[in-house]
Amino acid sequence: MAKLSNGVTYLEAAGTDLSPPSVLICNETESDEEVEGEDWFMASSSDNMSATSGEEDFDDMVCSCSSDEENNDTAVGPIDNLQNDLRAWAVTTNTPISHLSSLLSVLRKHFPHSHLPKDGRTLLSTPTGTEVQLKAGGQMHYFGVANGVLERLRDNATLKTPSLHLQINADGLPLFKSSSLQFWPILGLIEEDSTKTPFVIALYCGHSKPSDANEYLSDFVAEMGKLASDGLEYQSYLYRIEISCFVCDAPARTFLKNIKAHNSYSGCERCVDEGIWLNQRLNYPNTDSALRTDESFRDQTDPDHHKEGESALLQINVGMVSQFVLDFMHLVCLGVVRKLIWLWMKGPLTTRTGNQAIMDISATLIKLGKSLPKEFCRKGRSLREVDRWKATEFRTFLLYTGPVALRKALPKHMYEHFLLLHVSISILCSPRLHKHYCDYADNLLKVFVQNFSVIYGDFVVYNIHNLIHLASDVRKFGPLPQISAFPFENFLYKLKKQIRKPNQSLQQSVRRLAEQSGVSRVCRVSSSPLPSSPTVSMSHYTCDKFTLSLTEGNNMVSSGNATFKIEAINRTLGGTSFVVRQYLQQQPFFTYPVNSLELGTAVVDGMSRETRIITERDIDCKMVSMQFNKRLVTYPLNHI
Ligand SMILES: [Zn+2]
Repeated sequence: MAKLSNGVTYLEAAGTDLSPPSVLICNETESDEEVEGEDWFMASSSDNMSATSGEEDFDDMVCSCSSDEENNDTAVGPIDNLQNDLRAWAVTTNTPISHLSSLLSVLRKHFPHSHLPKDGRTLLSTPTGTEVQLKAGGQMHYFGVANGVLERLRDNATLKTPSLHLQINADGLPLFKSSSLQFWPILGLIEEDSTKTPFVIALYCGHSKPSDANEYLSDFVAEMGKLASDGLEYQSYLYRIEISCFVCDAPARTFLKNIKAHNSYSGCERCVDEGIWLNQRLNYPNTDSALRTDESFRDQTDPDHHKEGESALLQINVGMVSQFVLDFMHLVCLGVVRKLIWLWMKGPLTTRTGNQAIMDISATLIKLGKSLPKEFCRKGRSLREVDRWKATEFRTFLLYTGPVALRKALPKHMYEHFLLLHVSISILCSPRLHKHYCDYADNLLKVFVQNFSVIYGDFVVYNIHNLIHLASDVRKFGPLPQISAFPFENFLYKLKKQIRKPNQSLQQSVRRLAEQSGVSRVCRVSSSPLPSSPTVSMSHYTCDKFTLSLTEGNNMVSSGNATFKIEAINRTLGGTSFVVRQYLQQQPFFTYPVNSLELGTAVVDGMSRETRIITERDIDCKMVSMQFNKRLVTYPLNHI
């Protein structure tokens, strides 16, 4: 047993309205979304948009529009290049069609031989009609799993593995502050796709969430069943398409699984703990209740966990327990970390840290934020603004800045309790450490949860409790960043930004997505040219995980358990090399619950006089560095 200074005992962490479904076609003849009065008419059949696995069908969908548009799959010559560049510019800047048409008019006047179309819709291959089904109390457009996968295959020529594993996300997306209108997209992401780019499988639009989950899922379930038996053919390859997991927040999971709400009795998706009502909230104090299984879910052995009926996902043999991951973003970042900060600021008097401590922590966070690497899009903000923090800010706080900012501000027992969470989640996020220390992290999380009520009282609610089930997802699927909702949330943000008016939001979104699809096909990314001279001095180096440069915050790497500062980046015909100096002293930043050096976290000092050269293959990871008592604390960049 390990004892903390205030007598709190820690368990020893071992080892380590609506009509039946029908289809509408919106005939869009207006010049832009700003124009109202689009005509609607009923289509004759409800299966026009049933999913297909053929590339031709997909092309028909996105190009069934303008008469004078050519399908530029192979861009050649300056005219095509100009058109492609204009397409890419208009799509990436989300330029309204009317503005694009005005620009085309100017260009045609000054470049009469450019063959540019008059209409922006022609340039972007904007569909002239959008097929919409009335489903589950709203409108729905089904793009299809196969169409999305084929699009990703066209954009990523390296995807040649025989099996493609899909992560599926469904979530509500409010569109306007002044309206209840919301999207409920079904998104997909191919795990083998290194770009981690989601695609839209279906888009639902209504004034509330879909009224019936099985109706909402019907096209998806039907198509996945077909793909499971037939596979998907592309360029002579037959791909096996499998669902890896569903990555959703708790309310969406309960909706898709047709189970009781997550904050009700028997609401835990992983164990049969019923929960206890304490101090006006449902607590789950037990950490050893019997676990649910896919079989027990299918057999409904715990009827208190289920709503009436069965989820349609059972028809395609989805593991309703094992294939629904506990999303790191919602559970840990927006759940546990936000709750901890709330307890420090506004919780019971025994856990509040006081105004001075909050001011000290905030000042440190703002200071540390200035030196965060390029991979952090949001810098440090005061705890006073915590109500406006984004999930990425809670993640940064937990994994990097929190241990530094809290060190002198929290009582020791509360700081060490926070470190239990920091260390365990750092391990579960690490591409390297999670393989060997997953059980250790699992034990640390159980200790964290068991001591949560000792320190903070009856606040072991759903999110806190579910930490004890988190490591099992990492064992099955890999590190937390690989199974988090962050890529989906980023995609949803962009989807929302495309909607300019409440009028026909679904149709607007379908058109924008079709325009993007056209651009991705004609604008292939080319590799950077090789240097013409033997050695070229570079200002930065970028790989798929991170960017290195000579600027503070972006110039530290780890190689073979040593930490280096980059002083020059050279590109040669053989690859990229780095001139570096080594930090000679590495001290642990903390020793509880484990020596931080075991995690690669250190206080570094003393630079070597000699430089040495390392290559990109020598680099284990980029290091995040921040000032602490006039020295540097370095962490491995783990969350990417
Ligand atoms: Zn549980």
